[in-house]
Formats: sequence, C-alpha cells, structure tokens
Amino acid sequence: MRLALAEAAAAGARGEIPVGAVVLDPLGEVLSMAGNDRESAADPTAHAEVLALRRAAALRGQWRLGGCTLVVTLEPCTMCAGAAVLARVDRIVYGATDEKGGAVGSLWDVVRDRRLNHRPEVVMGVLAEECGEVLKRFFATRRIR
Ligand SMILES: [Zn+2]
Repeated sequence: MRLALAEAAAAGARGEIPVGAVVLDPLGEVLSMAGNDRESAADPTAHAEVLALRRAAALRGQWRLGGCTLVVTLEPCTMCAGAAVLARVDRIVYGATDEKGGAVGSLWDVVRDRRLNHRPEVVMGVLAEECGEVLKRFFATRRIR
C-alpha cells in the first residue's frame, strides 16, 4: 500500500486524481505499479487499477493473473472491479472507501456477486485514513485555485 500511495502522490503531482495501484505476484513481489493517468492519456479507462493490471499481464505474457493481488489506494469503481474479476486476481486490497462510486462493497459489490464464478478475496481499509487524506488534500487545493 505504501507503493500504491507513492503512485497516487505522483499522479496527483501530474494533476491527476491521486489514486495508485500495485499488482503483486503470488509470492508477494511487485509485478507492476501505476497511477491514475486519465487526464494525460485522455483515456476514460486509464484508471490506476486498469493500467497496473495491463502492465502485470503484459509482463507475465498472459491475461490471467491468478494468484496475484491488486492493491489500490481507493475502492475500485465498477470498471476496475470488473477488470480485477476478469483478470482472475486472487485478492483485492484497498485503502479508502468510495461511498460515491465504489464497486467493492460501497455502492455495488461487483467482485463478490455470487453469480460470478470467480470472486476475489477482499481486504479493505488498509491505511484507509492516509489513502483518503491524499484525495482530500488534492481536492482541497483544487478548490482554492
Ligand atoms: Zn476505476
């Protein structure tokens, strides 16, 4: 989560909403890292999670990321939760909850829907305060400008 927070900070410095993600391999080694890049890439799907999952899959040379863990500073949205399910990650670890758009327990629970045949384990609230603080600070400075 510390690495994901560093990615979030780097994204914030680029003017992106500060969200960072890391994919860990089955041994817990870092496979990939990414920060939100929606503005710079002019890509509505360039969320940190999607970018990190893509990089991890490219590195492994396969779309299946079984045994892997997706770590992200903010509760994933519907797209990212869906991407994590499609990538078959074993575990999703997130920091701050997103009451307005979270799809891993808050607004929806895309990853634990019993109708799915793959349901990643979820660990929430890891360094939640710190993860939320990064976002709060970002939006506070934006309002001042
Ligand atoms: Zn997302």
